[in-house]
Amino acid sequence: MREVYVDNNATTRVAPEVLEEMLPYFCDLYGNPSSIHSFGSKVGKKVGEARERVADLLQAHPDEIIFTSCGSESDNAAIMGTLSTYPEKRRIVTTNVEHPAVLNLSKYLEGKGYEVIYLPVDNKGIIDLDELRDAITDNAGMVSIMYANNETGVIFPIEEIGEIVKESGAVFHCDAVQAVGKINIDLRSSSIDLLSLSGHKLHAPKGIGALYIRRGTRFIPFLMGGHQEGGRRAGTENVPSIIGLGKACLLAKDLMAEERNRIEALRNRLEEGIVGRIPGVIINGDRVTRLPNSANMSFEAVEGEAVLLMLSEEGIAASSGSACSTAEAEPSHVLSAMGVPSTAIHGTVRFSLGRYNTEKEIDYILDKLPSIIQRLRQISPHWSKGRRAAS
Ligand code: PLP
Repeated sequence: MREVYVDNNATTRVAPEVLEEMLPYFCDLYGNPSSIHSFGSKVGKKVGEARERVADLLQAHPDEIIFTSCGSESDNAAIMGTLSTYPEKRRIVTTNVEHPAVLNLSKYLEGKGYEVIYLPVDNKGIIDLDELRDAITDNAGMVSIMYANNETGVIFPIEEIGEIVKESGAVFHCDAVQAVGKINIDLRSSSIDLLSLSGHKLHAPKGIGALYIRRGTRFIPFLMGGHQEGGRRAGTENVPSIIGLGKACLLAKDLMAEERNRIEALRNRLEEGIVGRIPGVIINGDRVTRLPNSANMSFEAVEGEAVLLMLSEEGIAASSGSACSTAEAEPSHVLSAMGVPSTAIHGTVRFSLGRYNTEKEIDYILDKLPSIIQRLRQISPHWSKGRRAAS
């Protein structure tokens, strides 16, 4: 049986080049980067190089990058580390399609007396900029809006959002966990103050993230302790993973232009192939301003979980929403916010492509999926008899 992995928004395979660069830093070069002896200084130099590589991908300065343990920590550190410097500002503005790392923290902060405005999205998954403008009142300390959505791939108008936030004087945090490495991000020309990223979404290992903090942004460490990361994040550095993240950023920078076109062409082949072969399919989210790798679609009259299981039997790994919510029976909060009917949400599958996917793999999915949907519809009470005969 063939194995086809199309769940790259959940996580990616560590690139062999990344692993190779990490390996010496387990048993040979194992010094603590804070130590002044040669064991430490060799490692400290390499950590510095990784920081430069991360900064380079984002067009930032190396001293604006701190390493964290994951995207969730970066999101938490950005929001908590900023809000605590503005104790008088009690309003947070975000959207209702953020990742749980932002949404659940926002709910927690509501419990602590903050007022949180969750901006709605339209049926394409985009916020209304006038509503954003109105929401940023004088007491708004923080605006946290994602670069691109993990479920639909929809990209937010980040530059316009940044300008609106800048005019207001609030701090702008952007969760770019799904965008970094997939599309070009230039922080020199941007109004983003803090930006989160996560290694395992761009072929570095799990358990490593980074946070960009623009020079001059007020920030109190989220994790207190030693003086690592310029006093902005305590804890002895996860050296091999930091080095892996640096290499992954270097690769992403070199490969992005070519990869973006190739992956987008594969995604379009998959999407068009599915729509052409299977009736009753809706593509969710804006089809233009979207990550090149993501396709989110609802199949009428089937359960997404059943489709996933049958795909899995054919060796195909996709997802029914975000990986974090597949253990929950709740319909996707992102699709609900976009007004997708709950019957359609239950029939949703997300395909997220990546560096290692090939045309042959896409054709394999196109070969297997129509009969899976047809079999499920044959036994579905929601698929009309007439359509059953025709499908
Ligand atoms: N933000 C977004 C948009 C994500 O997609 C994810 C992970 O899926 C995260 C944050 C959390 O990242 P991590 O898994 O590294 O904590």
